[in-house]
Amino acid sequence: MDWNLLRRLFLIGALIFSTSFPPSPALARGGDRPSNRTEWRDGLVFGRQLFEEENPSRITDDQIRGYMTNSELEGFVKDFGQRCRNISTIYSIGRSVRGIPLWVIEISDKPGEEEPEPSFKFIANMHGDEPVGRELLVRLANWLCDNYLKDPLATTIVENVHLHILPTMNPDGFSLRTRENANNVDLNRDFPDQFFPVNDIVDTRQPETKAIITWMKEKYFTASASLHGGALVVNYPWDGSKDTRKHYYECPDDKTFRYLAQIYSHSHHNMSLSSEFRDGITNGADWYPIYGGMQDWNYIHEGCFEWTVEISDLKWPKATELPKLWEYNRLSMLNIVASILKTRVHGRIFSSSTGHPLPASVLIKGNPIKINATTKLGSYHRLLVPGESYQITAAMSGFQSKTTEIHLRGNKGASLDFILDPLEEEAPLMNNLKNCDCDYAIGLHIFLVFCVFFLFMFYFFRKKLPFKSFIRPIKTSIV
Ligand SMILES: [Zn+2]
Repeated sequence: MDWNLLRRLFLIGALIFSTSFPPSPALARGGDRPSNRTEWRDGLVFGRQLFEEENPSRITDDQIRGYMTNSELEGFVKDFGQRCRNISTIYSIGRSVRGIPLWVIEISDKPGEEEPEPSFKFIANMHGDEPVGRELLVRLANWLCDNYLKDPLATTIVENVHLHILPTMNPDGFSLRTRENANNVDLNRDFPDQFFPVNDIVDTRQPETKAIITWMKEKYFTASASLHGGALVVNYPWDGSKDTRKHYYECPDDKTFRYLAQIYSHSHHNMSLSSEFRDGITNGADWYPIYGGMQDWNYIHEGCFEWTVEISDLKWPKATELPKLWEYNRLSMLNIVASILKTRVHGRIFSSSTGHPLPASVLIKGNPIKINATTKLGSYHRLLVPGESYQITAAMSGFQSKTTEIHLRGNKGASLDFILDPLEEEAPLMNNLKNCDCDYAIGLHIFLVFCVFFLFMFYFFRKKLPFKSFIRPIKTSIV
């Protein structure tokens, strides 16, 4: 029996069946299965392709009516930077293949300043044909600006978090109505991978990917959500499994990821009621493994917890549905940002010798993921599920590591500063001499004692004997 032929016939049948019915008016009914089609490249399965086989021409002019164009979005960002300048600043992290700036809005009561506060980022429209996220992020920015000092949640976020919003990571894909960027590359397969060297060549990396990587290294993000479309679920690491099979592949912070993912799904209109995904959340590799994704890269390389949030079953619903989708997701988006304040241990790290902040690393016993404190303030934020005890170590080259045990109670989080002592060889020379048993130090010590003794003897005899007689030449019979 030709299993391949049978499989293809089944998939074609399933596709025809699934497209025979008009889309449900309930845009967020939750849990439509993605296509099972997989793509083989270099022997790896690149599977997560939600309806990506859709012919771009199927996205009609009628469908895109009511969505902001790229230039309208750029205009919005610049206007927002003026209208809400008391709580925001705007900047670009780079340009797309076609040269469109990748604009970011930063929202904070001290925008653009570095503070010992966590930074959270929202990224949308990584896939060009998934535009709902960019529209929701525009609404999120407006809502925070309009409700600051009026709504407690808005005020909490503005005053305690630096929120960075990138409404479109793939503006070229949006204008082309394609999943990929203008070079026909899926940006969510373009990041370095932990298991396979699929994207290790920096020169072939796309400009949008490079911009995100540089941005990550500058900002020390604590957490992040990347908004996608085509399903209704919060997806968390790992996205790929080592053996490329589809199964639950747990990351070291699985509990914390699940805890915060549930905050999103349970704050949503109906995501947690999904018939496909229990609680409206899923481990990425358990859904379908991908390699070169942004989510795992964030977590592994920068210690930033990222969720891939599928916010609507339809990738490109009619624009008239956007207000409803915003209402369905509004509380989820606000709650996941505010929750990082309660789901963490945080503090600052200093040097005991200079008092200066240290960009040390923070590690949890039994967990290999490292969180880096900031260079300027020595500030760190480590997400951890509440209700448990943790051994936390601050470590930095040239300093003695310190470990403390804490218990995270309820919904409060914990504050924990570290003061690290320099290692002895880093201390000044005379400090070293006190404890050093090296030959050099002993020799120097003896030499100094001998010098003091010699000077003392010199002055002692000089007083006892007239100097002249002391050096009087001996008389001889020589004349
Ligand atoms: Zn997507």
